[in-house]
Amino acid sequence: MPSYTPGAPLRAYVQALPKAELHVHLVGSAGIDTVLDLARRHPEAGVPADRAELAEFFRFRDFDHFLRVYWAVQSMLKGRDDIRTLVVGLAADLARQGARYAEVTVTPYNHLLDGMPGDELLEGLTEGRALAAAEHGVDLAWCFDIPGEKGLVAGRETLLFALRERPDGLVSFGLGGPEVGVGRAQFAPFFTAAREAGLHSVPHAGETSGPATVWSAVHDLGAERIGHGTSAAADPALLAHLAGHRIPVEVCPTSNVRTGQVPSIEAHPVRRLLDHGVVVTLNTDDPPMFGATLTGEYLAVAGALGLRPAEIARLAANSVTSSFLSAEAKAALLAEIAAVPGPGDEILLPDRENLPSVGSTREGRWSDVGYQQDS
Ligand SMILES: [Zn+2]
Repeated sequence: MPSYTPGAPLRAYVQALPKAELHVHLVGSAGIDTVLDLARRHPEAGVPADRAELAEFFRFRDFDHFLRVYWAVQSMLKGRDDIRTLVVGLAADLARQGARYAEVTVTPYNHLLDGMPGDELLEGLTEGRALAAAEHGVDLAWCFDIPGEKGLVAGRETLLFALRERPDGLVSFGLGGPEVGVGRAQFAPFFTAAREAGLHSVPHAGETSGPATVWSAVHDLGAERIGHGTSAAADPALLAHLAGHRIPVEVCPTSNVRTGQVPSIEAHPVRRLLDHGVVVTLNTDDPPMFGATLTGEYLAVAGALGLRPAEIARLAANSVTSSFLSAEAKAALLAEIAAVPGPGDEILLPDRENLPSVGSTREGRWSDVGYQQDS
C-alpha cells in the first residue's frame, strides 16, 4: 500500500494510479540518460556527451530550439541498438511515472529516409519492447505515423511498411507534423487501407489548427482517437460529436503551452472538453524535451482545475478505456485503479514543487526551469 507523506499526498496518489500513456513520440521521448548513451555511441553527431552540458542543451527555450534537439536525437539513430536504447529508456521513464502501458508513435518513414534499414528499426523495436516488459513492467504498443509535411509519398511508404512488416504490438496508424497547409483528407486512402487491415486510426488534429481539421480527421480518416484535439473546444457541435461517439482526445497540456498553442495550463481548454463530456486522456507528447512527465501532467491539470482525487482517478481510467488494450487487460487495470486508496476527497492543490516546469508566466506561478527528471 502506498504511503502518503505530508505535502505530497496528491503526487503519491497520482504516482500510484496505474496509467496509460497514449500520445508519446519515440524520438521525442529520449531523456538525458538515453541521449548520453547515444551521444557517446555517435560522437560525430556533435551532441554533448557530458551530462551537465547535455542538460543545458536539453533545456527548453523555444520551439525552434526544441526542433534542434529533436533532430539532433534523430540524427543519432542509426540502427537496431539505438532504437532499442530509445525504447528501453522510454520504458524506464514510464515506469517511474506509474505508467503500465503506452502506445508509442514511431515514424518509420523518417528513419528509412535517414538510411536506417527497415529490419534494424523493427528489430530495435521488438527487442526494446521485450526488455520494457521484462525489466520495467511496461507493456508497449506501436502507432506508425505519417510525417504529414513529407506528403503523399510518406503516406504511401508508411502504409506499405506497416502492412508488410506488421510487427507485434502495432495497433494503430497516425498522422503527425504541421496541420496548417497539410490537409488531413489527402491521406484518406492510406487510413482506409490501414483500417481495413485492422489498425486503429489516431491522427493528430486540432493541435495547431481549428476545429475543421478535427472534423476532417473524424470524417475523412475515421479517427477513433484524436491526437491533441484542443481546438475542438471552440466548436460546440464538434464537442457534442466527440462526446456522443466517445471519440477520446489525447490532451498534452505542457506540450500545448510549450508550442505556444495555449498561454498557460490554467487557460487550457481541457476544462471545457471535460464539461462537454468529451473523454479526455492526459499525455506528454515529447516529455523530456518539453520538461514534462506523465505524473506532472496529471498534477498540473489537477492543480489548474481543482480536481478531486476521484476525478483524477477518472482521468487515469480514461487513459485505460481509450487505449487499444484487450478488454481483459483494460478490466484488470481499471480494477487496480479502483483499488488505489485515495488521499481523501477534499481538493488537494499540489505544492508548487510538484508542478512541472511549464513556461507559463501568466501569473508568475510557474518558472521556466527546463528539464526535470522525476525520481
Ligand atoms: Zn504528437
